[in-house]
Amino acid sequence: MKVGILGGGQLGRMLALAGYPLGLTFRFFDPNPLSPAGQIGELIAAPYDDEDSLRTFASGLDVATFEFESVPRAAADLVASMVPVRPPPAALSAAQDRLAERELLERLGIPVAPHVPVSSESELSAAAARLGYPLVLKARTLGYDGKGQARIEAASELRAAWAAIGQRPAIVERVVNFTRELSVIGVRAGDGSMVTYPVIENHHSEGILRFSFAPAEASSAVQQAAEAIVRKVADALDYEGVLAIELFDTASGLVANEIAPRVHNSGHWTMEGAETSQFENHLRAVLGMPLGATQAIGFSAMVNLIGSVPDVSRLLAVSGAHVHLYGKSASHRRKLGHVNVRAETAPAVRDSVAELRRVMAETNPDKS
Ligand code: AMP
Repeated sequence: MKVGILGGGQLGRMLALAGYPLGLTFRFFDPNPLSPAGQIGELIAAPYDDEDSLRTFASGLDVATFEFESVPRAAADLVASMVPVRPPPAALSAAQDRLAERELLERLGIPVAPHVPVSSESELSAAAARLGYPLVLKARTLGYDGKGQARIEAASELRAAWAAIGQRPAIVERVVNFTRELSVIGVRAGDGSMVTYPVIENHHSEGILRFSFAPAEASSAVQQAAEAIVRKVADALDYEGVLAIELFDTASGLVANEIAPRVHNSGHWTMEGAETSQFENHLRAVLGMPLGATQAIGFSAMVNLIGSVPDVSRLLAVSGAHVHLYGKSASHRRKLGHVNVRAETAPAVRDSVAELRRVMAETNPDKS
């Protein structure tokens, strides 16, 4: 069977690497001819508004999916007029606009940070006066890894924040007083059945995910609350495939921050750390195959390699380490690969992460 993937980044590449053992073949679509997925599969490099190229991409596919939530809805709809697209393209609309995302979550009764949509500096000032400080201003579209985002501590910073996000339609929201960041990853099949991975603990700096631990140390109440959130969103979207939700853990419970309608960076540990990886499970779901078990095997962590890649031998010398490189050229703040570590105990995983971060700090100008 042939699977088409809109987007040719590392997520697409890892989907294909998980799909080859199942006998699948892959075709990617990405505007960048040097996309990481092009090194391992057929790549059609064209802009997302090139309808002829999209038709060439779709022809002969059994199913198409996406690995990038900013794929324009019109491109996904055109492909969907020729072959099934899973998850449904409507999931893109829900994730592409932070206001629509917040509205969906609120409609489902899922707590989100208090927020106000703003489209001018004066609206921003009025909203800030209502919400109180500190605040985060987020462009409604095309924000990721902390881009299109500015923190505002006081009224004197409003103008600079508005300029920093490019004076675009945005939401401004209260900074959530969280104890830690978590994520939950669910996999929903076409018949509505669903499996969920153990909750993951995530550590960001400068808006970029640096490392994750899984399973997070979480009570069964937290695990169940996270599962209920991902289940509600997946059902509302009539979703098929892997769906990730980023969460803040607070004294008054979980607060949802972001919906990712795709495989997710915080789920990379599943490659060696779970019975079935998120990549394989996404393919199983979109192809209508039985979903795989999601239990963790021992304890895992994932450490992103950002900006530069240390000597691979030094990384592999760390106990339990598995290196995954994406075939990308190095540049500042760019995710170039990740290292998964797995061990029988959580402290052993933490020791390996500390060791990995030492190796990275010695060689990496973008310290994590
Ligand atoms: P996002 O692009 O919304 O995932 O934000 C990137 C990171 O910025 C999050 O993972 C948090 O670390 C931080 N952040 C975003 N929104 C908030 C908020 N309302 N309160 C506190 N931290 C936030």
